[in-house]
Amino acid sequence: MLPAKERHKRQVSAQAIQPPEKYRSSGKRMDLNPDTSLLRLDASIVADARRTFAPGSLLLELERPVQLSDGQYRAGIRVLGAGRHEEIDAHPASSYAWHQVFPQGVLIPGLVNAHAHLDLTPIGPARLTERGFLAFVDTVRTHRPVDDQAIADGVRQGINLCIESGVVAVGDIAGSPRGRIATSAYETLAQSSLRGVSYLEFFALGPKEDEILRKLEEIVNNLPHKEGGVRLGLQPHAPYTVSPQAYRRCQALAESFSLPLSTHLAETPEEREFIESATGPLRVFLESVGMWDRSLAAVFGQGRRPVRHLHCVLSRPATPLILAHVHDLHEDEVELVRSLGASVVYCPSAGEYFGTAEHFGAHKYLRLLEAGVNVALGTDSIINLPEARLSIWREMQLLLRRDGTDPHVLLQMATINGARALGLDEAAFVFETGNRIAGVALIDKGCPGLDLGEVIRSSHDATTLMLGE
Ligand SMILES: [Zn+2]
Repeated sequence: MLPAKERHKRQVSAQAIQPPEKYRSSGKRMDLNPDTSLLRLDASIVADARRTFAPGSLLLELERPVQLSDGQYRAGIRVLGAGRHEEIDAHPASSYAWHQVFPQGVLIPGLVNAHAHLDLTPIGPARLTERGFLAFVDTVRTHRPVDDQAIADGVRQGINLCIESGVVAVGDIAGSPRGRIATSAYETLAQSSLRGVSYLEFFALGPKEDEILRKLEEIVNNLPHKEGGVRLGLQPHAPYTVSPQAYRRCQALAESFSLPLSTHLAETPEEREFIESATGPLRVFLESVGMWDRSLAAVFGQGRRPVRHLHCVLSRPATPLILAHVHDLHEDEVELVRSLGASVVYCPSAGEYFGTAEHFGAHKYLRLLEAGVNVALGTDSIINLPEARLSIWREMQLLLRRDGTDPHVLLQMATINGARALGLDEAAFVFETGNRIAGVALIDKGCPGLDLGEVIRSSHDATTLMLGE
């Protein structure tokens, strides 16, 4: 991996330090600094999680803009103003700015996908067969990229799909092919224009548990913990593949290096059965792959549901903790999640894919928000998505259509809450004067009026207009 400084130099020198031609259609450049440009964007709606301006404008200061493709560029982006057109007209810098108008467009902060598996992108969407979750596990094990080059290629495909859909930050699970802790997903994400966390995933249950944890500790000791805009994180896979003791050792490791944590939790009925009773298809699966030994009968099968099981295992961590999914949640467990200080990442399409509402009832994301739990949105892998996109905007559309969720609550989950879950700067996802932002997403020609809910209901997807440095 190139040192961050060198990578940056290469990107900047590759392109002129000017916004692309379409942003120079009118206005004059204010030559305060040769590396700085001013850009004014007008749209039908400018909105973030807190405010909507309709019609709205954004006035931005760009540092070192570099064109990435025909439609996007990357720059240091500072908000000089956000408001209705006439408010931005009155800003002293407005008349010096390049001016771009999106007559039917909507501008929002770049979105956060807080739980994805970018390396699985080449597999593409796949139908779920009758065998359900175990068949899904088979698909992943059979088709996932295994060697470092294939993993890097898969992650790059996933990164492109994120950017195509307005996502500028991601919580990516750097998967563990055939039980090997692989670092190439982290290295690939760190070289991209996205920011976020790459969580090294591992399985640690049964005879090889100690060996795997030693390997994990060695890797963490030897890897940089931040590269570019990407931090290293740790992902014990799930309570049915990681022993309580391994969770605790992982938490201690994460806290000693200030690494964020993530784990799958309370996802399927098979998980419930295994954690509660140490029986069922997951027990059979663990035996078949040599991850079960008899001593585990005393660890699992204690009659606890998955959320309570994990609550008994972990103490409130000193670093950010994500619990991905949490479909299987009883009212008396909401307080357990809150007391762990965890963020829940809800992946609505994945829930639909596995039919979790039929087993557990509707997901309690609104109840969790009401209880003060940070809830963000994720896509999970492309395998469980209805189309070959990795779009958080599509997840927002699903929740508005299905539940009538407030559009600003959806934007909050897709921006600020995602940032908080990943331990990123939340201000980078709010159009507040002075904020250095992570990016701007555009829904173009999707604006039938001046109502944000109508825009989300429209069939258009978001796309990334600008990525922040
Ligand atoms: Zn996942």
